[in-house]
Amino acid sequence: MRWPWTWTATSRNGHRRGRNCRRRCTGRAGRSRWASITWVRPTCRGSCNCARARTRPASTAASALPPSPTGSTRAWRRRCRRSTAAWTRRCWKSSARAWRASTSKSTNPRSRPPAMTETPAIAAALLDWFDRCGRRDLPWQHPRTPYRVWLSEIMLQQTQVQVVLPYFERFVAALPGVRELAAAPLDQVLALWSGLGYYARARNLHAAARACVEHHGGELPRDFNALLALPGIGRSTAGAILAQAWEERFPILDGNVKRVLARLHGIDGWPGTPAVEKQLWALAQAQLPRARMADYTQAQMDFGATLCTRFDPACVVCPLQAACVALQSGRVAELPWPKPGKARPVRSAVVLLLVDAGDRVLLQRRPATGVWAALWSLPEAPDHALAREWFHGHVDASYDHGEALPVIDHGFTHYHLQLQPLRWPRVAMRAKVADNDDLRWAGRNEWASLGIPAPIRKLLEETVA
Ligand code: SF4
Repeated sequence: MRWPWTWTATSRNGHRRGRNCRRRCTGRAGRSRWASITWVRPTCRGSCNCARARTRPASTAASALPPSPTGSTRAWRRRCRRSTAAWTRRCWKSSARAWRASTSKSTNPRSRPPAMTETPAIAAALLDWFDRCGRRDLPWQHPRTPYRVWLSEIMLQQTQVQVVLPYFERFVAALPGVRELAAAPLDQVLALWSGLGYYARARNLHAAARACVEHHGGELPRDFNALLALPGIGRSTAGAILAQAWEERFPILDGNVKRVLARLHGIDGWPGTPAVEKQLWALAQAQLPRARMADYTQAQMDFGATLCTRFDPACVVCPLQAACVALQSGRVAELPWPKPGKARPVRSAVVLLLVDAGDRVLLQRRPATGVWAALWSLPEAPDHALAREWFHGHVDASYDHGEALPVIDHGFTHYHLQLQPLRWPRVAMRAKVADNDDLRWAGRNEWASLGIPAPIRKLLEETVA
């Protein structure tokens, strides 16, 4: 059976060739001989002569191989003859390449961008988009030191850039380096973090800075495994630090990148499952460019945060349209799959807002583990019976005189918290209870220097004079 596809080509000096023409072209050495190649789809050769497209043959005889369109015909045919199936695959690929070339505006095959289905082309398109639309004026980019990159990466976990900006500026002004952070008391770090949420990040940051001083000479280590060993640094954060601070070729996989990769490659399944995550890491690794790692890392984050957003992706202006499986299969809204549904439980508690004659508020340090760990908050109990018991042990007043304030609703990752505040003005502690490490009176001028959870801080500012 003869191979049904045929081709025509135009050389650089204007000669037109058919597949059986052996005349050599006089194009310049080192460049392709052909200015353009067009593969001609096979048409019906039956008696009806209807010119409909014919289907691809099941197999192709080695003796009927056409000449290579790129020269070195004999070697190419010898190589292909060993496996007709392999040759068929190559031939279909080259015909696809030729089709793309023939539909491209440029006539020079060397000057055309690579096909969007190839991973280097995706990185190139992202970098090109970043040069036009990316965020290049973020405070941690000027200067882009390892410490500032690390701090920004930790702050940006679960938090948007706009929220992080003032916290970042305040934090680096107070603690400009690893050594200053390690030497600072935890209370100061928590106070600087107060309002940003997920306070475990601040505690881990502090512990990691101390580990850097102890084991790495007060510097952030430039080693993936050493970074991974520090508290609060996972694989994606370590990759982001190495890529942005030292231009090293490490991938990242935060929520934005997961969403973009899942859509771009049409990955089914919730990205939190190990199998899907493994697939996404492999794709993230395969797409890495050879250079400009810092820009590429920032480009990925910006692309997911501003263009390929969760609910309103701007596919119309997306530079990755041609490669996006979700767009081409009409599954943009469907991908990535959401987390399997599970309603968050609701927990409730009573918090005691005790104000003394000097308008100071009684604050209690929370346990070292759990939510709002080690922060200063109001005395809290799971219900009124336990709250009453604590109250009578510490405060010289009647529990029943407490004024009920509006309930505070606060969402955590795993549950929803409803706090019922009760307020007592002008109370005093019992004589045997004094200020200690876990209990203290604090006036308004002291609140700023203490790590206080955002909902409690808001309550204090709204209800205490
Ligand atoms: S085409 Fe749409 S869904 Fe696909 S990567 Fe671009 S913005 Fe995201």
